[in-house]
Amino acid sequence: MNPIEATNRNFHVAAQLLDLDEHNVRQLLTPHREIKVECSITLDDGTLATFVGYRIQHDQSRGPMKGGIRFHHEVDHDEVGALAALMTWKTAVVNLPYGGAKGGIGCNPSGMTEAELQRLTRVFVQKMHDLVGTYTDIPAPDMGTNARVMGWFVDEYAKFHGWSPGVVTGKPIELGGSLGRDSATGRGLLYGAECLFESDGRDVKDFTYAIQGFGNVGSWAARLFHERGGRIVAVSDVGGAIRNPAGLDVPALVDYVAVKGGVKGFPGGESFPRDQLLFQECDVLIPAALGGVIHADNAAEIRARYILEAANNPVEPDADAILSKRGVTVLPDIYANAGGVTVSYFEWVQNLQHYKWEEERVHTELRHRMRSAWNDLQATRTRYGCSLRTAAFALAVSRVDRATRLRGL
Ligand code: NAD
Repeated sequence: MNPIEATNRNFHVAAQLLDLDEHNVRQLLTPHREIKVECSITLDDGTLATFVGYRIQHDQSRGPMKGGIRFHHEVDHDEVGALAALMTWKTAVVNLPYGGAKGGIGCNPSGMTEAELQRLTRVFVQKMHDLVGTYTDIPAPDMGTNARVMGWFVDEYAKFHGWSPGVVTGKPIELGGSLGRDSATGRGLLYGAECLFESDGRDVKDFTYAIQGFGNVGSWAARLFHERGGRIVAVSDVGGAIRNPAGLDVPALVDYVAVKGGVKGFPGGESFPRDQLLFQECDVLIPAALGGVIHADNAAEIRARYILEAANNPVEPDADAILSKRGVTVLPDIYANAGGVTVSYFEWVQNLQHYKWEEERVHTELRHRMRSAWNDLQATRTRYGCSLRTAAFALAVSRVDRATRLRGL
């Protein structure tokens, strides 16, 4: 399913529940602005290459727009548009004073040198620096980008507008990044999972976990759930998958991946085909790689009781219905992976205040935000007698709709 279709289906269920009128629905769905740019660079071998970059600014009624920049070969207009809308709903669920946006460049970062990636990032900034800013639209890292890329971004932006660390988040610490940003999405997932399990009278340590993706989010989730006593029984990445029903030694795996570049061949587990990760025997499945991986054709094969959506859009709406009938609880992406944008917000606040927080404060405030959002989510679920996904969308859409009306737009 096209990612915009999937996001909008969830939106429409919430809009109906909230009894929004046709005009409001149209206004909330229509992006504020869409930018598409040509990014041509010279490759290291002297040849020219042209890439297409996007920034879609979805909504700004609750504050400056916020969302990552993705470097991936599948980046296209529809994907970026869906992810931009998801950011609007995500910032609203956790009640940050932001709207939503997303950007990306269709490229294969793993096949490019660091110098080529730097040139590409700088050209992208040159093409759209006038349309982002500390109080308008604040990018951040996403799949295929990292603190290093944000460092190049803030430097290129400074050439046009002067030093403005608040224009992007997820920066290196030395350039105004926040302590705790690196682990924030995985940590927010842990705090959200604690709330979910508590509401079922259970704890993180009671369960086994399978994790798809071992990049920023997946590897931090593995570390943090492991530290809290959870047993990580299977992980995968683009190069392979490994499992150990007795539990993987996660710190050793992290060290192994740092040297080898992937999980394949880790001696503390048995290798298996990476496309079988989703169907492994486990209590909790954490998709932390790509969107659309759980769909109507494979939802019946999932063996987990819980799915924590660390990635954006990993479960399609048709699969949601099948999973719900089978009693699988899905912690929806717009809540589950909101830890990253929440600590991005803390970074922005620190940049505006020119005051650095201790790491412990970042973790404490993140936990507080995730718990407070969980309470709002639970109240909405009880009020409408619906799934957590519908509750998350209803909570978010009602907040954005109210802000839009109050601004009189
Ligand atoms: P990343 O680039 O650091 O890692 C992605 C991981 O997915 C890598 O380990 C890669 O090998 C793996 N992968 C790619 N294709 C795969 C496949 N077919 N099968 C198995 N593994 C595969 O990206 P990330 O920052 O960890 O983001 C992961 C997901 O989380 C994305 O959907 C992203 O949008 C979402 N997300 C990230 C953040 C953040 O703060 N980084 C915040 C919110 C949501």
